[in-house]
Amino acid sequence: MTQHALIKGETGEWEMVIGLEIHAQVTAKSKLFSGASIEFGAAPNTHVSLVDAAMPGMLPVLNEYVVEQAVKTGFGLNAQVNKTSVFARKNYFYPDLPQGYQISQYDQPIVGTGEIEVDLPDGSTKIIGITRLHLEQDAGKSVHDMHPQKSYVDLNRSGSALMEIVSEPDIRSADEAAAYVNKIRMILRYLGTCDGNMDEGSMRADVNISMRKPGEEFGTRAEIKNVNSIKAMTQAIQFEALRQIEIIEDGGEVDQETRLWDPVKLETRPLRSKEDAHDYRYFPDPDLLPLTLTDELMERIKSTLPELPDAKKHRFMNEFGLNAYDASVLIAEQSRAAYYETVVKTGGDAKISANWVINELLGALNKAEKTLDDSPVSAENLGELVARIHDKTINGKIAKDVFADMMETGKSADTIIDEKGLKQVTDIGAIEAIIDEVLSNNPSQVEAYKGGNEKLLGFFVGQVMKSSGGKANPSMVNELLKGKLG
Ligand code: ADP
Ligand code: MG
Repeated sequence: MTQHALIKGETGEWEMVIGLEIHAQVTAKSKLFSGASIEFGAAPNTHVSLVDAAMPGMLPVLNEYVVEQAVKTGFGLNAQVNKTSVFARKNYFYPDLPQGYQISQYDQPIVGTGEIEVDLPDGSTKIIGITRLHLEQDAGKSVHDMHPQKSYVDLNRSGSALMEIVSEPDIRSADEAAAYVNKIRMILRYLGTCDGNMDEGSMRADVNISMRKPGEEFGTRAEIKNVNSIKAMTQAIQFEALRQIEIIEDGGEVDQETRLWDPVKLETRPLRSKEDAHDYRYFPDPDLLPLTLTDELMERIKSTLPELPDAKKHRFMNEFGLNAYDASVLIAEQSRAAYYETVVKTGGDAKISANWVINELLGALNKAEKTLDDSPVSAENLGELVARIHDKTINGKIAKDVFADMMETGKSADTIIDEKGLKQVTDIGAIEAIIDEVLSNNPSQVEAYKGGNEKLLGFFVGQVMKSSGGKANPSMVNELLKGKLG
């Protein structure tokens, strides 16, 4: 992975150094310090309490459920959960921030260091370090495109709870960055602590990137904001890497600055020079006590953790004998993994089941623009189909026709097999009768075969299968044909 991720410049090869800050909106009913709803898509300024609007004299009240969600996420990231953490004011001025400061966490975050394993496209895995996870308020939104002269502010998002998950600068390529974001997203969705919906902005990433010659010290980084899809992130990283290499090779220096990704022009451009921590004048928020977690709370949350993606992947490999690729496709969504397990339970054969879920079902759903949730074929019904393949009631080719019917009608496999009389023919006498007929209808091919053209076996098999309506057992056809011809 590291090898081919290097980029050739005029002065030799360059390596990317990347660290990501992911902002994940916490799944909850209400905001971090107020009872206002965080529902997406409401009319502007309808989900705004007096606290969110920063009316004078309003006091923040910490949302306990959000705290539990952050703790759960900490455990899910194999990270240190801190029994004491402190909310701090991060001071800056912006029209969409009526308080004039953001309540965040600074030197005492709720979650400290951890690590996750990411799955790379070549099938290998890599450990990426987590530096911290802290809770903070989201800002509102400035709207610049509703009026030619005016800007508007929508405070619906103001005060929503975000988890900022900061990675170590362990990432070395755009592929690794994508794999990291995918894995974080998967873990959050498994935990139910963030819906991971990048389209709706509930997960956003800032990309910190610098370039170095392999083995040398880290260079100066730029931070890219406004990256709200994996595709945009990949493009932004590639653009930024080349921009920085060019600057350095021309004898210049990369500015430590915040840049903005422009998804239309496909370039990054400067937004502002990077603030240092002291520019924010952090100090503990005097309206909030330090947050302390009891052992009981931590134990209770630990006991509610679901089986996480990596554990499920390894279990699928061990228990069902799947390869790493199939296992990772099946565990990508919790509901998909559960569906598969039901198919195996009913169908009895783990590998046939994996093949049918991955290659047939997911493909057909995709084509029909449906999700697993509204699949016309239930897991039990697909399991029944697998069972009929496994016990040789039908062969694989007929099974595809049955499956197409199941997708269309929602009927069970057995119903369709019965209604259409599709049971596989395994009666030796019946197959032999068909073979005899095929051979006597094709005397010249029989002669050619006997003369040494063994490729013709395929022709005979095809003919026999055809005149059996596809129902003859293919391996029996093969065996019996060889016997009669040989
Ligand atoms: P800040 O709070 O100013 O954004 P941090 O030290 O918290 O700075 O780092 C933010 C992110 O930048 C982290 O994800 C970290 O891994 C990454 N990072 C730090 N140094 C570098 C570097 N030289 N090149 C690339 N990324 C870096
Ligand atoms: Mg930062």
